[in-house]
Amino acid sequence: MRVSRRKALSSVLALGAATALLAGRVRSERASPPADRIRPPGALAEAAFLGACVRCGLCVRACPYDVLRLADLGEPVQAGTPYFVARDHACRMCDDIPCVPACPTGALDRSLVDVRKARMGVADLSDSRRCLSYTGAAYCHSCFQACPLKGEAIRMQQGRTDAGGLIRPVVDPDRCTGCGLCEQACLLEGDAAITVRAAHAVGA
Ligand code: SF4
Ligand code: SF4
Ligand code: SF4
Repeated sequence: MRVSRRKALSSVLALGAATALLAGRVRSERASPPADRIRPPGALAEAAFLGACVRCGLCVRACPYDVLRLADLGEPVQAGTPYFVARDHACRMCDDIPCVPACPTGALDRSLVDVRKARMGVADLSDSRRCLSYTGAAYCHSCFQACPLKGEAIRMQQGRTDAGGLIRPVVDPDRCTGCGLCEQACLLEGDAAITVRAAHAVGA
């Protein structure tokens, strides 16, 4: 009888520890959303954004391109908060940025009136060893062509790369808005060679 009570007690403790671990994991995932979950233009810094956003979905409804979505329960972003994944649906950088004035709380900052000044994230040639231009496999400009700020946020730099290519895309992090159109346009199968890290992940 004493043994089975001890067993029962240790089972309860083990269950409690597992629950605490799981809760900790969920909390930490919510505290740092993955770098590929990008907030809409004008989003406040992540902690302030989470405090101000009331999960109403009005920004999502205002987006004419269905770029934004609200996180469901269990997703690695707080449930009900808006985000997009560039590889699937990049932000089109609308001139009138309709998602921003749709936000009733200022979680998306209304002082952003020039979409070129949005800082949703920063693109980077994160997997250069798969980039067709960088490796010389093809003369590819797809990411460059897709950029609304081509020649400013991204340029094709000539010069031999260490992988044998003759040209490569180079991003200016001070001009890049993080719209993700380059990532979406990358010709590679699966993951792109150029990817956007969300502002919350780069501390922008
Ligand atoms: S700027 Fe346009 S495309 Fe981008 S999230 Fe806002 S409404 Fe959607
Ligand atoms: S994310 Fe890509 S497409 Fe968008 S501004 Fe930056 S370099 Fe250009
Ligand atoms: S679209 Fe992709 S493969 Fe082509 S140059 Fe850009 S990063 Fe490289």
